[in-house]
Amino acid sequence: MGKRYYCDYCDRSFQDNMHNRKKHLNGVQHHRAKQAWFHSFRDAAAILSEEQSKKPCRKFIQTGQCGFGSSCRFSHMTEKDIASLEWQIEDERRRAEEPAGGGVSPERSAADWLSRREKRLALHSSGRLEEEEEASPQASDVPPHFLSIPNLPPPLAPTPTGWRDASHTEWG
Ligand SMILES: [Zn+2]
Ligand SMILES: [Zn+2]
Repeated sequence: MGKRYYCDYCDRSFQDNMHNRKKHLNGVQHHRAKQAWFHSFRDAAAILSEEQSKKPCRKFIQTGQCGFGSSCRFSHMTEKDIASLEWQIEDERRRAEEPAGGGVSPERSAADWLSRREKRLALHSSGRLEEEEEASPQASDVPPHFLSIPNLPPPLAPTPTGWRDASHTEWG
């Protein structure tokens, strides 16, 4: 079972291998589709500002069609169309600003650290856990103030009876 390569520009997928990919990416059809895609994006901003400067076409809104078609001097765009255009432009702008495969985000390095730590813990539990526990109680990579939290000595968490007993011995 092979992976599928999906080409956004051509809106089609094919079996992902070097041969198919190279053939597709060098193909005339793909170049055309890619150009058209960039072209349509550049136009999206132009269309939006043009449509927003026009008044809505009453005929189109009421009947869903208008004989003037794209040459109508009124706008044939619904609010939804305009909203999706705005979204498209905004989305593309955001994508253009973030370089693909850019710097490592803090979340990612934290995840890396956690997975490394998990592997280390797995190593411990699978092997020489008992020996190491006696020698140094899991102190290797945990900061001291973390260790102190689960190891609170019992007197720091007194029960009501404990307090009463204590006052008895002090006052009585
Ligand atoms: Zn393509
Ligand atoms: Zn119209």
